[in-house]
Amino acid sequence: MESKYEEMMDRILKERKSGSGNRFEPPEIDVYPVGQKTAVNAEKFAKYVNRPLNHIAKFLMHELTAPGQVDETSKIILGGHFSKKVVLEKMNYYVKEYVICKQCGSPDTQMQKVDKNFYVKCLGCGAEYPVGRLK
Ligand SMILES: [Zn+2]
Repeated sequence: MESKYEEMMDRILKERKSGSGNRFEPPEIDVYPVGQKTAVNAEKFAKYVNRPLNHIAKFLMHELTAPGQVDETSKIILGGHFSKKVVLEKMNYYVKEYVICKQCGSPDTQMQKVDKNFYVKCLGCGAEYPVGRLK
C-alpha cells in the first residue's frame, strides 16, 4: 500500500527540474480505524508541505464525502471507515493540486488565502495561481 505512495513521490522527484538540492520527502501518514471512524495522523505531513492541517482535513472530508474534524491531538478524524490506500491516494492528489507548482514542479510553495480564495505561490519560479476552493 505504501509503495504506491512512494512511487508517486519518486515520480514527482524525477519530474522536478534537477539542480535544486532539497528533496521532496513528505513524512509518513498514519491511517487507522478508531471505532466507526478513521484517524489520519497527518500533522507532520502538514508541517512538511506547509499547509494548515484544517485545510487537509477539509480536503479529505470533501473528497471522501465524510464528516470529520481535527481532534485535540491534531489528528484528522473522519466519520466512516477508509483504508490507508484510499486516504493516501487522496493525499497524493492533494500534493498534486495544492502543493506542487503547476508551472515548474517545485514543492517549495506557499498557499495564501485572499478573499476566501486560495492561491498557491511558488518560491521556486514565482508563479502564482488560484486553486480550487473547498466547501
Ligand atoms: Zn514554480
